[in-house]
Amino acid sequence: MRSGHARTATNRAEIKAVCLDVDDTLVDFTRAARSALFALIGRDDMWPAWQRATDEFVARCVSGELDSTTMRELRTKAFFAEQLGIQLDDHTVTALEARRLTRMCAAWRLFPDVVPCLDWLRAAGLRIAAVTNASGGPQQHAKLADMGITRYFDAVLIAGELGAAKPDPRIFHAACQRLHVQPHQTVHIGDRLDLDAVGARDAGLHGVWLNRDTTDQHPTPPPDIHQIADLEDLPELLVWHYATVPTPRR
Ligand SMILES: [Mg+2]
Repeated sequence: MRSGHARTATNRAEIKAVCLDVDDTLVDFTRAARSALFALIGRDDMWPAWQRATDEFVARCVSGELDSTTMRELRTKAFFAEQLGIQLDDHTVTALEARRLTRMCAAWRLFPDVVPCLDWLRAAGLRIAAVTNASGGPQQHAKLADMGITRYFDAVLIAGELGAAKPDPRIFHAACQRLHVQPHQTVHIGDRLDLDAVGARDAGLHGVWLNRDTTDQHPTPPPDIHQIADLEDLPELLVWHYATVPTPRR
């Protein structure tokens, strides 16, 4: 565990629920999305530009301006026009986007630490929510089902369905409401320091940053944000820092 926080009486709290981000926390999303983009354009150097386009178009989806299918096709059309100088007609962009999506969905994999962690959380009697900034509700529900982990979740909060995305406190508070817990009784874990850990903390939850990056090229989290390197470290963090987490029954 990378967290250097000492166990003190002041930071111990009763924890009743755990929220988890989905993409790049439970599912190795970036690897799948990068390989699908490579299949689409035949090069791997434009991932940052694709991510910027994704942030822009997903925000329009979360705001209700676009549905997720239209958003994906407009994103691909704009990306080809702006980054590659290629104008795609509607028929071509529909076919290309369908092929990219199929390839990406086929490449989704759970990280190996996910199921043991979810089993532990369940055995400890904690309520569990998935809280994701994904634009498309049906696709995200299908992803959890395809991965075989739907049964673990008492609630699934999807930004595209809710109309609010992390770090907006509304999505964290909606998760707590669905789980029938208070924010201070809830830990949220995700791979984005800003959107997940800091966003959760600012909404009154306990924020945990899942930093799977093994290089040193990452920011230093604020002192009140716990950092773990993989989900194997989560049970120890919960038991050590939050004293009233029950011991799992095996
Ligand atoms: Mg994520």
